[in-house]
Amino acid sequence: MKIDFAFAQVARVILNKPAGMKEYASQRMSAACEALRGMPPYACPLSCSRCCHGTILMSYVEFVHLLHVLQGKLSAAGVEKLFARRLGVLEGGDKLLCPFVDDKKENEHCTVYGDRPLICRVFGTSASPCDEDIVHPYFPDALFYRAYNLLYYAEDGSFIGLPLTESLVLYEAAFDLWAVADSGHEAELMKLFARYGGMRSLICDLVENRFFTMEKGGGRLYL
Ligand code: SF4
Repeated sequence: MKIDFAFAQVARVILNKPAGMKEYASQRMSAACEALRGMPPYACPLSCSRCCHGTILMSYVEFVHLLHVLQGKLSAAGVEKLFARRLGVLEGGDKLLCPFVDDKKENEHCTVYGDRPLICRVFGTSASPCDEDIVHPYFPDALFYRAYNLLYYAEDGSFIGLPLTESLVLYEAAFDLWAVADSGHEAELMKLFARYGGMRSLICDLVENRFFTMEKGGGRLYL
């Protein structure tokens, strides 16, 4: 099943970002990777891609960085094709399939491995253990939050997000949903949330100064 949204049509709109913005995102991503250099090695089986299924959340910085990476790998037409085929695919009801997983391969399933979001980097450790019968090495919280802060917060301590309305800011979402919001379809995004549920996206209510996810029907579940 696929979310009812014309993803291919927004590809070019969101690729067209100021160079400074792409540079900022890639610098932040590099700094986060550098911060993670001391992370414990994990012991996931090479052929496993279970953690790539189930709505992969990321920051706006990670989303912009991935757009930049795609632009370097594919032509504009190639990105449109990817968006048309892979974005908005729902599996198991309301879980979004990561557009970058390639399950047809025997191993190395991630097509953006070197640039994958933080959450993908900590899968299989104590920070994000799975159901597999493997050792989940201890991942120190301080290390995780050092990288997290670089990707989610600006130098002045304010969080990085995308305004949806005057009082609502999108803070964390799957790649597909960032694409909807970033292309100026904020109202459409809210309609999608009301129809399919928020798919774990986090929105900040600036009036209440609290984060919430949206339930099917448009109700808010405040954290
Ligand atoms: S970005 Fe790569 S590692 Fe992360 S969920 Fe997608 S395919 Fe898996």
